[in-house]
Amino acid sequence: MPNQKEPNEPQADNSEETSPYSMALRQLSDVAKILDLRSDLEEHLALPKRELAVNFPVRMDSGEIRTFTGYRVHHNLARGPGKGGIRYHPLVNLDEVKALAMWMTWKTAVTNIPYGGAKGGVAFDPKPFSSGELERLTRRYTTEISTFIDPQGDIPAPDINTNAQVMAWIMDTYSMHKGYSIPGIVTGKPLALGGSMGRIDATGRGCMIVARRAMEMLGYGLEGATVVVQGFGNVGYYSALLLQEQGARVVCVTDSSGGRYSEAGVNLEKLMQWKSAGRQLADYDYEDFVTNEDLLKMKCDLLVLAALEGQVNALNAAQIQSSIIIEGANGPVTPGADDILEDKGVLVVPDILANAGGVVTSYFEWIQGLQHYFWDREEVEGKLTNVMSGAFDEVIATSKRLKVSMRKGALALAVGRVVEAIDL
Ligand code: NAD
Repeated sequence: MPNQKEPNEPQADNSEETSPYSMALRQLSDVAKILDLRSDLEEHLALPKRELAVNFPVRMDSGEIRTFTGYRVHHNLARGPGKGGIRYHPLVNLDEVKALAMWMTWKTAVTNIPYGGAKGGVAFDPKPFSSGELERLTRRYTTEISTFIDPQGDIPAPDINTNAQVMAWIMDTYSMHKGYSIPGIVTGKPLALGGSMGRIDATGRGCMIVARRAMEMLGYGLEGATVVVQGFGNVGYYSALLLQEQGARVVCVTDSSGGRYSEAGVNLEKLMQWKSAGRQLADYDYEDFVTNEDLLKMKCDLLVLAALEGQVNALNAAQIQSSIIIEGANGPVTPGADDILEDKGVLVVPDILANAGGVVTSYFEWIQGLQHYFWDREEVEGKLTNVMSGAFDEVIATSKRLKVSMRKGALALAVGRVVEAIDL
């Protein structure tokens, strides 16, 4: 691929506000100007519809009782029930959950699926927890937020450090109170409980589909493209695997401990086996060690950001040497970094489009559950490809019409749809 434009001098901006909610507000304000949005609508969209904070006790294996804090937020429900994941992470706080809920509103609107935006989380590090402790915490948190969640009103899904088993515990806790099984209360469930084929790799598949479209738009394909991936969980691993299946060379992957590099391409399956045994990539013995700082400076065609918010910011954006960034995570590039990357000619495929494959397939799971009629993998993947590709086209058309970046085009398309629903 051609070299991007010469980078500008790093615009170190220590004052950049990188908290997720301030990022989300800055994006909303930018798009409000582009759309010439009425001030009452901007004010309305800047605040979530509802916020719930819960503090609850959990008995640990040692017999000790610890108190945990969790949240569930509904941002906007004008286009349908709230939809959004549940995150278990020590950095979870109300500000972050509010931002993630707002981004869910835009994500469901940009893909035009009939949902609003919601999000939840509990502030703790689940790594040292036993399975029994995790189950008790999940069941108690579910009970505490049970006034908010509803199969027709707010449907949780997995996010960082939550998975199909956690969804099964949520579904069972909710169902116990009703007296019968209610699969529609969560998506991302195990197949045996009404999950959908293709849900586990859906977010990564969506990333691969938009990466392929972005490369084609620049006149290239995925064959031989070099890929670097930050975050080696559900989104990072499946993005890497599916890009590799398309002929790309994944030269570097990292987790929170750092990661591994190989010019010939890292061995994704072996690295995942290592991770699945509860180990970190920093402790893996083969291939070269790299830090997360090294990863961001690597020259490559595609950089997939699949970890946390704010990873590329005004302080390090000038070092990016990738031609395209795929935002597998939510909010990994700050508004300050967006400006620098645009100047450098780096194409950023924004989160609300790039990682929407998960929520789109969650929508398919929800429909299948409501109809008690299940599709095969081919049907799910075919429908996902159509939705992602269609949304990509609409975002590009909107960006071109408004003469703005892909992020602003995606936000303009999404906010426009939400505003139309609110006004109606
Ligand atoms: P996960 O828990 O499966 O994996 C997260 C990975 O990121 C882990 O490998 C972890 O070690 C790594 N990580 C954490 N901090 C890091 C850091 N500072 N540097 C490098 N790596 C780091 O989580 P996930 O479900 O893959 O979610 C990742 C991101 O994708 C989140 O932003 C999430 O909101 C977003 N997302 C997830 C889904 C989904 O379907 N799971 C859908 C849309 C968006």
